[in-house]
Amino acid sequence: MPSCTVCGAPPLARTCVFCHTEQRSFTAPTVVGLLDYLARHLPQAEVQRGGFLGRGSVRRLELQAGGESFTGRFRRGELELTPRLPATAWTERLLVALSREAAGDADVRRAVSRSGWALRQ
Ligand SMILES: [Zn+2]
Repeated sequence: MPSCTVCGAPPLARTCVFCHTEQRSFTAPTVVGLLDYLARHLPQAEVQRGGFLGRGSVRRLELQAGGESFTGRFRRGELELTPRLPATAWTERLLVALSREAAGDADVRRAVSRSGWALRQ
């Protein structure tokens, strides 16, 4: 499953939700790796991992951004998101909240710009 050629995000849609780059090799959306990807780029997120000694992939991720609470967790292979939205809409809302947060927080601003994501106005 090819990830975004610009920011490395898992392909949620034909146009990357994170950086808005068109994905030429897009075939089908996938949320596999989404929580790991977010955990890698957002050090402020609280993360629980599965696997031996908790070194496996991210099972649960929780993050406060822009006054909102975001949670994602894999349960029996399904990704459950709070707020309850489809993955693309949830990610879009998270990026709007992070953009809001980045306006007043240099650490968040650095994390977002280093990741190659497009800030929302
Ligand atoms: Zn991207």
